[in-house]
Amino acid sequence: MIRVSGYFQQKTLHIDEDALFHLVHVLRIKLHESFEILAEEKVYACQITSLKPLSFSVLNTVEVNTELPHKITLFYVIPKGDKLDLVIQKAVELGIDQLILIQSTHSVVIWTPAQWEQKKPRFLKQIHDATLQCKRTSKMKLTGVFTFKEAINLVFDYRFIASEHHLSTSSLHDQLKNATPNASLAMLVGAEGGFTTEEVNQAIEHGFLPLSLGQRILRTETAAIASCVLLSSWSEQR
Ligand code: SAM
Repeated sequence: MIRVSGYFQQKTLHIDEDALFHLVHVLRIKLHESFEILAEEKVYACQITSLKPLSFSVLNTVEVNTELPHKITLFYVIPKGDKLDLVIQKAVELGIDQLILIQSTHSVVIWTPAQWEQKKPRFLKQIHDATLQCKRTSKMKLTGVFTFKEAINLVFDYRFIASEHHLSTSSLHDQLKNATPNASLAMLVGAEGGFTTEEVNQAIEHGFLPLSLGQRILRTETAAIASCVLLSSWSEQR
């Protein structure tokens, strides 16, 4: 089923302008064809009632819940190149609630607040597209750019730091065995240069639990995606 994004104006449901173009000129939607509109985190089943001018009727709201039971945040040190694009797309698909970009001691990519503001719309568009594609109803929040210290001071019920130096830590399932149904979780993942020993220790002092992702050193984007998989599958199995 085709799903496009929309919005309400004076209680009337509209299709976003670029989505309208896509529906008519790319997908060439036909008369009486059904499609869905995602607006304000709800999905509406619609049907085309006229092509010129394009109009549609709303058949019903679609009861869907594609969101994870737990709110999961990924703290991610900005990586080099276009790896962030990949991580954003996969984090959306894996149901992550919030992505917080951070800079750490070994950061190579340093964005000023102005550079961040300039880049942000492109990332928000990626989130928008991925949300529709994977049929989520909520958009992943994107925040940046925090210092390492700011990040470790943010409070969640459970916070983890992905650390390749802590190979013998207990499993995520053990750590989360007493988690309540609405517990909030956060995972901190480093970029190419990883974290300094001081940063890992500081995070642990602030209540972060070190978590191993296996015996091998993963690339930063692999570690970020693996973290999202681990936490989202834990959440969905609860
Ligand atoms: N510091 C390392 C080095 O230069 O040898 C590599 C850092 S790794 C490319 C980037 C990040 O991925 C790390 O900071 C960590 O958060 C995460 N990571 C990679 N492999 C991991 C593993 N086996 N267990 C837990 N975290 C891992």
